[in-house]
Amino acid sequence: MIKFLDLHKINLPYQTAFQEKMQQFLDKGWFVLGDEVKTFERDFAQYCGAKYCIGVGNGLDAMVLIFKGYIQLGKLQKGDEVIVPANTYIASILAILQADLVPVLVEPKLETYNLNPDLIAKRITSKTKAILAVHLYGQLAEMDKINSIAKQHNLLVVEDAAQAHGAAMNYESQITNYELRKSGNLSNAAAFSFYPAKNLGSLGDAGGITTNDADLAKVIFALRNYGSEQKYYNEFIGINSRLDELQAAFLNVKLPHLDTENQKRKAIVKRYVAEIKNDKITLPYWNGSNNHVFHLFVIRTQNREDLQDYLKQKNIETLIHYPIPSHQQKALAQWNSLSFPITEKIHREVLSLPLSPVMTEEEVTSVIQILNQY
Ligand SMILES: *Cc1c(COP(=O)(O)O)cnc(C)c1O
Repeated sequence: MIKFLDLHKINLPYQTAFQEKMQQFLDKGWFVLGDEVKTFERDFAQYCGAKYCIGVGNGLDAMVLIFKGYIQLGKLQKGDEVIVPANTYIASILAILQADLVPVLVEPKLETYNLNPDLIAKRITSKTKAILAVHLYGQLAEMDKINSIAKQHNLLVVEDAAQAHGAAMNYESQITNYELRKSGNLSNAAAFSFYPAKNLGSLGDAGGITTNDADLAKVIFALRNYGSEQKYYNEFIGINSRLDELQAAFLNVKLPHLDTENQKRKAIVKRYVAEIKNDKITLPYWNGSNNHVFHLFVIRTQNREDLQDYLKQKNIETLIHYPIPSHQQKALAQWNSLSFPITEKIHREVLSLPLSPVMTEEEVTSVIQILNQY
């Protein structure tokens, strides 16, 4: 059986280090917002090239807290519109709703699965105040174009970087001509998830925010902790969404290996791209650069159920990211009559192949051969 993702195997190399962290944690007896959280916040900010990182409970809260932070700073108001790709995991849209803002859905490009920048301008109204760019499946959204539209219309840009730890692009800079910038440093603020299955995954729920905005960072440090900077003094109506100390300790073990693991994903993808040859399968678009960290390898095919069944019979596990678009979910009944044909087509046709840093060459070969025989 070739598993879609073997989380046990992924974490196996780190078990001894995790156990040492656990023992230190017990010996210290400091369980909430301790040194491990501080260390992770410092190191992850540095990794992304951002000035600040704020550790929070999960990726959804990270996005909610960015929006709530901007509301607190007066840069956003309840009822403001936020542009968001229609083709995303529902968390992106829920975050906007939970901050009492209004999501405005925009179609993706079929090839990249990511937000189509050319369609943003005509959805901008006097109420539009922000764009939430999602780096779906690990591939950076077109941040040059998105940031330039935002600048023209005076909008904030937020990244949903939950699937794109370490993805990097050449970004036009005023100082040098171009500089390499990572997700988390391509907008006003970025949200990360460290859910176990992500490229940088903890052993439970965890999330983080990166930003270069000192005012925003200060507000979010308080908002995640009851709106309090000093214990029992509450400046804001906050929430309780702190990065767990133990999860931070595990993340501190894994962060130094993130680039190596992303490279392993890339090596597998290079084989998939070069060796999968089947007219019934459309491979994902990739320009070959580091702008994609392949959280997922998502192909398209006309008769998805048939292909998925075939692979299952051959003992290859696949998943669908995602089977139902957000605007067709029961939870968002008010949008069920809307039509987003490209998003719907993607949701009908996508299938995610097994991909992880611990897949063996033999497993990769076998996936390729079986797909080519389909
Ligand atoms: C995983 C994910 C989230 C949410 O992260 P959680 O930690 O599960 O809350 C948000 N957006 C995208 C694109 C994700 O993949």
